[in-house]
Amino acid sequence: MTNSYQVHCDCGAVKMEMTGMPNVQAYCHCEDCRMLLDVPYHSITAWDRDQVVIKAGEDMLVEYKRPDREMTRVFCRLCGETLYNTNVMGWRLVSQLLIRKCNEFVVPEELRPTAHFYYNERVMNIDDALPKK
Ligand SMILES: [Zn+2]
Ligand SMILES: [Zn+2]
Repeated sequence: MTNSYQVHCDCGAVKMEMTGMPNVQAYCHCEDCRMLLDVPYHSITAWDRDQVVIKAGEDMLVEYKRPDREMTRVFCRLCGETLYNTNVMGWRLVSQLLIRKCNEFVVPEELRPTAHFYYNERVMNIDDALPKK
């Protein structure tokens, strides 16, 4: 059986489904994520484009492309919640926090972060046992 995960934005207008397993699941400490999302680091699940399907409310989505980066942030025009963002590889990055919120405040075991990426660009030190790359 193929895994599938449902998420929705805060107001519920946009519903989205991810199927299979992500390419990457990690904490990203890079400056690009910080600029795009205004977070100290980004807890990501990164999927191929066709693994992420909008099930409802596609017309509510706004896509903002950063002028200086090959990155977009895709959010709901009603509530402003980011459903996913994209990177230079065209992957769709879905926040672990969004998955957690839509899954009774638990991140499914198999989607939990396995590493810290771009740790040398960090603004916060993390004291855990995960590999830091
Ligand atoms: Zn919304
Ligand atoms: Zn990043």
